[in-house]
Amino acid sequence: MSDLYLIKIGEITLKKGNRGLFERQLKNNIKKILRPYPTRVTNRSGRFYLECEGLDEEYVSSCLSKVFGIVGYTRSYSCAKELDALEEKALLVAQQNIDAGVGMKFKVETRRVDKSLPLDNYGYSAEIGGRVFEKIPGLIVDVKNPDWIIHIELREKGYVYGFTHKGPGGLPVHSGGKGMLLLSGGIDSPVAGYLMAKRGMSLDAVYFHTPPYTSPESLEKVKDLARIIAPWTGGITLYTVPFTDVQVQINRSVRPETTTLHSRAAMMKIAQSMAHKRKDLALITGEALSQVASQTVESLAYTNSSVDLPVFRPLIGMDKEETILISRRIEAFDTSTQPYDDCCSLFSPDHPDVRPDLKKTQSEWETIEGMDALLAEAETQAEKFYFPPQRLKE
Ligand code: ATP
Ligand code: MG
Repeated sequence: MSDLYLIKIGEITLKKGNRGLFERQLKNNIKKILRPYPTRVTNRSGRFYLECEGLDEEYVSSCLSKVFGIVGYTRSYSCAKELDALEEKALLVAQQNIDAGVGMKFKVETRRVDKSLPLDNYGYSAEIGGRVFEKIPGLIVDVKNPDWIIHIELREKGYVYGFTHKGPGGLPVHSGGKGMLLLSGGIDSPVAGYLMAKRGMSLDAVYFHTPPYTSPESLEKVKDLARIIAPWTGGITLYTVPFTDVQVQINRSVRPETTTLHSRAAMMKIAQSMAHKRKDLALITGEALSQVASQTVESLAYTNSSVDLPVFRPLIGMDKEETILISRRIEAFDTSTQPYDDCCSLFSPDHPDVRPDLKKTQSEWETIEGMDALLAEAETQAEKFYFPPQRLKE
């Protein structure tokens, strides 16, 4: 295969005994996001190499920018470890930078890992820099403040590359267990899913909808959000659960000010039951402390008490502005802010209880008739949709 990308990893290098597991997972994830195109991924001394053929750089770049575990990546050219071959590739990189209009000041930086070679780092940089300078008119050598750098690495082969793109960091998805994301149509929960995937967790997702009170468009919106986060999460399975009967029964049975709390608890219980069957070991929500009445510490204590699984809330200490920045960065924001109601806003009370008493609220739950059967029934009606990680080339 003719095209080579050099991939740099971060936190994985700190792993000791199980580093191999993380590395294998990263390899699989890179191959998976580029499927069905044939690729080869290898790793040697802390560097990963992706080989592919005939894929444009922008496409490969957009895929690699979404694979957690990667801290940087660059199109790279391999060649023999001798001066003429290195010069040829260095000229190629130089020309690309000039064509991209990033300036004319440059330098060469060499990392010689193979100590048997005749020149040292400085020797290679000076020699190749001199040759490039001579061949391309208008270039200026500036080692202090260059517009761009030609990197040479001399390992088992020679590698020449230019600008390194920043990767998303984190740990490879599927290396950190599996969780069930409660995905609503809002801004927060897709970001929460993204952040847990960044720590290596793979995700299922569940959305509770309330037809006919919520429109088919709000269901489509959540599917779109699942599709948007799927490249980051290495693919995602979304379950949509009809919640109307549960919601109506709650609204009929409890004080208006606690309806949201109980519907949140009902969602958590269904999500937990589904999680158990799919071997998801945690629930994930987009809650942030005190954002709304159902997210005060008292309310969260009640929601937590309704389930046994750990509940991960990666946004708990974040400002909305910080969440919005991430939402925009992952291109979820425009979809999240489409104006379709989710079930909660329609059934929300005017004066929710912001400081619910735990015991009292738990007792109130027990008074709701037929809830276990309604929760079980809702779960059986779940529909399943899978969104793969890859976006195929047009
Ligand atoms: P978001 O932007 O994620 O909708 P929000 O600020 O609107 O969050 P709430 O509506 O109170 O907050 O929901 C808090 C969390 O509960 C959500 O982040 C999500 O994890 C979960 N949740 C709420 N509604 C639903 C739903 N209909 N289906 C699945 N999960 C939900
Ligand atoms: Mg919401």
